[in-house]
Amino acid sequence: MRLLVIGGGITGLAAAWEAVRSSNGPAEVLLVEASGRFGGKVHTEHTDGLLIEHGPDSFVAYRPAALQLAEELGLSGDVISTSGTRTVHLRARGRLQPMPAGMGMVLPSRLWPFVTTGILSPADKLRAGVDLVLPRRLVAGEDTSIGAFLRARLGAGIVRRFADPMIGGIYGAGVDELSLDAVLPSLRADELAHRSLMLASLAQGRKARSNRTAAGGRGPGSPFRTFTGGLGSLVDALVDRLVAAGADLRLNTCVTELRPTGQGADVLLDDGSVEPVDAVILAGGVTSSADLLAVPAPESSSAISGIPLATSTVVTLAYPAAAFTTPVTSHGWLEADHAPISGITVSSAKWAGRAPADTVLIRAFVPERLGAIALADEEELRSAVIGHLAAVLGAAEPSLVRVARWPAMMPKYIVGHLETVATAEAGLAHLPNWRLAGSAVRGVGVPDCIADGRRQAALALSGAARVGA
Ligand SMILES: Cc1cc2nc3c(=O)[nH]c(=O)nc-3n(C[C@H](O)[C@H](O)[C@H](O)COP(=O)(O)OP(=O)(O)OC[C@H]3O[C@@H](n4cnc5c(N)ncnc54)[C@H](O)[C@@H]3O)c2cc1C
Repeated sequence: MRLLVIGGGITGLAAAWEAVRSSNGPAEVLLVEASGRFGGKVHTEHTDGLLIEHGPDSFVAYRPAALQLAEELGLSGDVISTSGTRTVHLRARGRLQPMPAGMGMVLPSRLWPFVTTGILSPADKLRAGVDLVLPRRLVAGEDTSIGAFLRARLGAGIVRRFADPMIGGIYGAGVDELSLDAVLPSLRADELAHRSLMLASLAQGRKARSNRTAAGGRGPGSPFRTFTGGLGSLVDALVDRLVAAGADLRLNTCVTELRPTGQGADVLLDDGSVEPVDAVILAGGVTSSADLLAVPAPESSSAISGIPLATSTVVTLAYPAAAFTTPVTSHGWLEADHAPISGITVSSAKWAGRAPADTVLIRAFVPERLGAIALADEEELRSAVIGHLAAVLGAAEPSLVRVARWPAMMPKYIVGHLETVATAEAGLAHLPNWRLAGSAVRGVGVPDCIADGRRQAALALSGAARVGA
């Protein structure tokens, strides 16, 4: 079996890894990456003793695919958790306030810290409490936006101060466009089981605490993990092991056309060559997949091209520690107030080994939902971010600034996303060994991309094996 993988991001590399270990016998893998490096949005830079992540900086441990892959690659010993005690803030109502203990992305799992937090006004808290008596709102089979659903149940305060900064921060889009069913299906399940989201969350909190007590454990700890050498270590290890397994990995090579041959394809590359393959993984993202499927699977192509793409920018700044009036120990904050950034991560406080001891390393995020600033030229962007950090932290000039722009790169899972994906898959039914994979369709988190890349590779190869048998 010969498998083509389009895209050398984490999805494509994970798909290739699955293929060289396939239970149907190792497949011959051709992976093509249009750019000059592997990793896609995973991009770690080592410079001047700093470890800079231009894209993702971590993954969640409660989705096991990344940890499992690390184990298979012999990287488990390099997995690190966040440093020290996790302190995260929200800048709301003009000041940095600690995130209430037990606060999830939207809902509290402990009542008292929520009742006493200064992040919400008393009126906002009372309105959130109305959720306790409201009947169920969702209609089975009808998707809605996370924002509309939460506003109806818990009020506008909780949406503005918690849901939008937290969920919007992860998905690069506002909660009023994001799909409840694609992004937070657990909220639908909670309403169905408990009616009130507050009651559901508090019950889950009590259960988690009693499980921990029964197990003699301490606090829940941070769910975030990365590697001593940054997320780039995972990419490097995958590339090394794939090459060792005989996979053909090509940089600076673009797939320009896919021509169906039975259930496989003839693959046209931009160097003019044509490669015959039995199965295809489309892991190049929304635009790439929509373009390549335009002729062989037009319904699929038009469904995918309806997935909007968000632009985001990460500004990394290094400061001498002495530039701050007080030591920076917080792992970062999210902005619930008007600001030119949506939040920061203090990488040097959050992770070991990101910067020398006398340096503070900060990542600031400028998603497009902030408006004009996200599209501003680099000078204006830098000065807005530096000025804001100076105002909040009292920091002087940074010693290093790096700007990583991700233009129209982050798929937005808007209302109806699951239906869009189902339409895209149905449009590929005549080519069952061609599989869409990765952040464009089934989850943007690194573990989701790994799990999906592997699953789609297994499906493509099992289909191809049946055809070849
Ligand atoms: C700023 C930022 C921060 C993030 N933070 C986190 C985080 O902390 N944790 C987390 O879990 N997730 C995070 N994410 C999300 C996560 O990084 C991405 O969803 C994931 O890396 C996407 O991987 P992918 O392989 O699906 O796509 P990509 O990484 O986009 O890879 C696709 C690759 O395909 C190549 N390609 C496209 N078309 C072709 C073609 N025709 N021929 C050949 N090659 C082609 C592209 O060059 C690219 O390298 C973040 C994303 C961004 C942008």
